[in-house]
Amino acid sequence: MNLNELKPGQSGVIETVGGEGALRQHFLDMGVIPGTEVSVIKLAPLGDPMELQIHGYELTLRLADAEKIGIVPVSRQEGKEEKQAQRSPEHPGLGEEGRFHPKGSGDPLPDGTKLTFALVGNQNSGKTTLFNQLTGSNQHVGNFPGVTVDRKDGVIRGHSDTLVTDLPGIYSMSPYSSEELVSRDFVLRGHPKAIINIVDATNIERNLYLTMQLLEMNIPMVVALNMMDELRGNGGTVDVNAMEAMLGVPVVPISAAKNEGVDELIRHAIHVAKYQEKPLIQDFCGPEDHNGAVHRALHAVEHLIEDHAVRAELPVRFTSSKLIVGDPLLADQLELDQNERETLDHLVLQMEKERGMDRSASVADMRFAFIRKVCDASVIKPRESRERVRSEKIDRILTGKHTAIPLFILIMGLVFFLTFCLIGPFFQDLLQSGIDALRNATEQGMEAVHINETIQSLVLNGIFEGVGTVVSFLPIIVILFFFLSLLEDSGYIARVAFVMDKLLRRIGLSGRSIVPMLIGFGCTVPAVMSTRTLPSERDRRMTILLTPFMSCTAKMPIYGFFVTAFFPQYGWLIITGLYLLGILTGIAVAFLFKNTLFKGEAVPFVMELPNYRFPSPRNVALLLWEKSKDFLHRAFSVILIATIVVWFLSSFDFRLNLVDNSHDSILAAVAGLLAPVMAPVGLGDWRIVTSLISGFMAKESVVSIMETLFGGGLAALGSLTAASMLAFSLLYTPCVAAVAAIRRELGRKWALGVVLWQCAIAWAAALIIRLIGMLF
Ligand code: GDP
Ligand code: MG
Repeated sequence: MNLNELKPGQSGVIETVGGEGALRQHFLDMGVIPGTEVSVIKLAPLGDPMELQIHGYELTLRLADAEKIGIVPVSRQEGKEEKQAQRSPEHPGLGEEGRFHPKGSGDPLPDGTKLTFALVGNQNSGKTTLFNQLTGSNQHVGNFPGVTVDRKDGVIRGHSDTLVTDLPGIYSMSPYSSEELVSRDFVLRGHPKAIINIVDATNIERNLYLTMQLLEMNIPMVVALNMMDELRGNGGTVDVNAMEAMLGVPVVPISAAKNEGVDELIRHAIHVAKYQEKPLIQDFCGPEDHNGAVHRALHAVEHLIEDHAVRAELPVRFTSSKLIVGDPLLADQLELDQNERETLDHLVLQMEKERGMDRSASVADMRFAFIRKVCDASVIKPRESRERVRSEKIDRILTGKHTAIPLFILIMGLVFFLTFCLIGPFFQDLLQSGIDALRNATEQGMEAVHINETIQSLVLNGIFEGVGTVVSFLPIIVILFFFLSLLEDSGYIARVAFVMDKLLRRIGLSGRSIVPMLIGFGCTVPAVMSTRTLPSERDRRMTILLTPFMSCTAKMPIYGFFVTAFFPQYGWLIITGLYLLGILTGIAVAFLFKNTLFKGEAVPFVMELPNYRFPSPRNVALLLWEKSKDFLHRAFSVILIATIVVWFLSSFDFRLNLVDNSHDSILAAVAGLLAPVMAPVGLGDWRIVTSLISGFMAKESVVSIMETLFGGGLAALGSLTAASMLAFSLLYTPCVAAVAAIRRELGRKWALGVVLWQCAIAWAAALIIRLIGMLF
């Protein structure tokens, strides 16, 4: 029978793992291998995907993917009894100096060599928390060269000749998503002097899988065994010395959140890097493990390719196991000749025959078999984890069949209400009055010393109006990020993705895309930025292109303005209708994309559901600081320049004389050129065009420009024009800040594409609204 047929509460032992390619490898890497027990916890409220427990952690899987996994059902009790190992902890498992590694041996790197570290670990293992502890505020954020995946570097406090890079969380060294590729390439090609591998001690089996692969890289390494506070709090412990002896690298128990053991970790990390202490053991495949089928194949391949690997500067052991599971690129890179390729094939076929499993499963199983041995010898698991029990209780409500979706709407509603109606505007007003005061002071100052009037106009009407308005949005953005990071760090967002996956799948995306879309209702800029967490490039691009359809808050003033002027009796109806129109257009566009530009399946939804945890205040504070810096940087670069350009165009005529009336300005002339294009949809008036153009800078300015240009004559436009105008403003190009964000993520071409494409859609929608309106 197949995994999808199991009912919640039932368990089974995996027999076969179907599927193919990267997806199958991903299954295997997540521990879904033959012989492992899985239990079904529950189905998502909409009936798909399912939540499983495997290797002591929780995983989501779509039913369609679960169908590819064959199982033999077992009754729950059988599986449970054997787990209760009874052994009393022999030592505290925290703060013991590693006895395994003699200190000060070998040749140290020359003094002054920069010690670079790669911080590698699973998602939610506490990487960011540890990174923040290691570096304090000595960190800078950038992108990895050539890709737009966040890169954080920092200097270890007190050691100025070091540099730690926080890599994206990964589960294995098989590139499954673009982020994983970045992490793998960094370890493989970035030549870090050492690896700090962070391992979640409460979820040790799955976490050690990556460790096994990292050991094969033959780079000096320390294992930071994190979350020890939680493990010990539940009565578990780890015999660190036994684990060190089996892994051949220093293992340091720490609690990143409580800053315990971090100093010791730093000492060990610097030591292994300085003395270039490579892992002592890489040979985890025992000759006694299933008659050594995998062992013999691996070693044979190692000998076969050793010289090639050395020439290509690739670690021998890593390359061998990669070749066995099949990596054509690698075979080319090694320049294996025909004979060698055939020998390789024979060796692997022989292994598959002897082991009775295909190549990928054999190798994954070999690793997990060793991990089991390590855990048996060194880990005393708690009988019950308080955090797990707590998570299950919370999940009964938050992902419960009848409560999940109402609570989701309630929580998001509350976040938006607090951000946009309560706390945000308060701080925004505060900041705005600060900016206004500064503006007045500047104005008086300039008056007093009789500065040229044009310059005054630039500073006051250009910079203060433009950049000032944008900067005043800082509090809203920071507060929105504050709430979202609380939701994210606590583990709730993963549940939202789980609950919403089925709906999003219909439009060709996976559950994870819900987050950026939700943020899009606030502001497109952070929404676009938040897509970096998506595992697949295809989903990421598609999500970025859809977020602008979620009506952002900056459009609220436009809606308010027109509704009060033209449709006062239908106010909320029209505004709600506009939001819906945005969502529906987004869905329609998604369908279009799904069948054209982004053909193919959304990535399978294999995601870990971590325990709920209290977010660390330090992490949240550093994140907010980082976001604010980023936002201000943008406000004073892109937006400042754009504002100056608009000011210039609306203040001068073609002979570069200052105009008295903006009617004569370059902007009016240019707008006049565009007017015929806009005439069919009823927006041909140059003043409307001008206000729309200025809306490209910031949507808020549409209203203020219309007010100045029309004065009292607005009513003459008529309600038909107003309706077209509403639809057009809802859908046309996102503002320059959002376009800049899209450009940063997808490049210039896509950004330009979005601008043109959205204008076209808006134009079509406005036309349709106008035509419908004419019927009445
Ligand atoms: P990342 O995804 O690997 O970057 O993980 P984070 O650093 O974001 O941590 C995930 C969660 O684990 C956060 O809620 C942290 O507060 C929490 N956490 C991190 N380290 C520890 C620890 O040592 N003990 C406990 N109890 N929680 C921790
Ligand atoms: Mg992180």
